[in-house]
Amino acid sequence: MRIILIGPPGAGKGTQCQRLVNFLQVPHLSTGEMLRDAIKKKTAEGKEASSFMENGQLVPDQLVLGLVTRRLKDQDCRKGCLLDGFPRTINQAEMLDDLLERQAMSVDGVIELSVPQEELVRRMLARKREDDSPEVFAQRIESFKRQTAPLLEYYELKGKLEHVDGLGSADDIFDRVRQAIRAFRRAKR
Ligand code: ADP
Repeated sequence: MRIILIGPPGAGKGTQCQRLVNFLQVPHLSTGEMLRDAIKKKTAEGKEASSFMENGQLVPDQLVLGLVTRRLKDQDCRKGCLLDGFPRTINQAEMLDDLLERQAMSVDGVIELSVPQEELVRRMLARKREDDSPEVFAQRIESFKRQTAPLLEYYELKGKLEHVDGLGSADDIFDRVRQAIRAFRRAKR
């Protein structure tokens, strides 16, 4: 299956993605991780991305698309994948659709993990990550609302969106994620 997980920063995507890749037995494609890796390795892409990431802004679509296009060609992605942090804009979603179509593939379903903003801020203050200063975090939430939230409608109109309440224990949330996967499987038949 080819699944996309969408949620604001701090929604708990990381935890649910780990469980989901185990459950689905597909590779986990996180563009945030690919970008942090590129920065660590000081590649040209990493150098270009870092100033955007430091400010909580999205890196240019073409750069991210390049990373994803290369990764999707790997053999282990034939049977499916879990996309995390990509697509993040309508433009990226359209580019992904084109890319998959050319390889006779498609997105099977999109899960929206939703968490109220007060809770996101509370969680952010409780954890530590280098790009998590309150200002940068606020910028990432803003960018989610402005650029990524419209994507939900894009997939809703295609009948591919399932909402998952991101409040509660990780186990409870994962139960809901599995229900969403069942809905995608039913739709596929
Ligand atoms: P979060 O979901 O918590 O913001 P990620 O690890 O997914 O964290 O992303 C971290 C940063 O990497 C983003 O703030 C953005 O700068 C960059 N990034 C990740 N994925 C994309 C993408 N698809 N398009 C543009 N920028 C991205």
